[in-house]
Amino acid sequence: MNALEPIHCQRCGAAVPLIDAPEQTCRYCEHAVETPPEYLDAVHARRDIVAARKAAEPKWRRLAAGSSPWWMIAGGALMTLAPPTATAVGFSLEPAQSTALIFALMTLPSLFPGSLVFVWGATSDLTRDGVRAMVAARPSDKEGAPPECRVCGAPLEVSNAELSCTCLYCGTDSLVTDIPVTAISAERRQAFGSLEQATRVLRLRLWVVHLALVLFAVFLGGLAVALYAAHRHLQ
Ligand SMILES: [Zn+2]
Ligand SMILES: [Zn+2]
Repeated sequence: MNALEPIHCQRCGAAVPLIDAPEQTCRYCEHAVETPPEYLDAVHARRDIVAARKAAEPKWRRLAAGSSPWWMIAGGALMTLAPPTATAVGFSLEPAQSTALIFALMTLPSLFPGSLVFVWGATSDLTRDGVRAMVAARPSDKEGAPPECRVCGAPLEVSNAELSCTCLYCGTDSLVTDIPVTAISAERRQAFGSLEQATRVLRLRLWVVHLALVLFAVFLGGLAVALYAAHRHLQ
């Protein structure tokens, strides 16, 4: 379905959101603005899009609200505490060992878990922020005005309970809570139209990031074991 031209208030000229009602009051001048019948038909034709968006909201909430600084804090703490602890343990277990060997076999590998946890947190957050920025509504230039559709720029009818909104003029879903204050990019305009797609993309990206980190962790673990085995063999 093609995007519809936004309806404008006949008195003050402001664009009004498209809603499922034959009439609404202009938020700026309180003039009554009628919804033409063909626009109401379009609203009804977009019912499935709205229903799909509402169904996707809980999934999006679970995936996107997982952002937490605690992974980075825990990783940072591990990175700070593990090396001195591992070094002390190394010296107490094998007091005759050279400092360089303790460093290679204990101190250095002890940095791995903390740095992985830190990178896990940082990359997850970056992935979430990236997709969130792509589907976020456009903040309005006018103070106190509702956010605008990220694709066609029409004002959105935002209810407090919802974290996203479907523009009934063009059928695009936008996030209306936690809107990042960044310039609207071409990428955002061309991003997936529905929250459902955005949720799928975010899930896939998080999955790829986490899989890469798990593989890297396995690699580091193998490296630490190999170093230790080589050291045992040489003794
Ligand atoms: Zn008006
Ligand atoms: Zn739109």
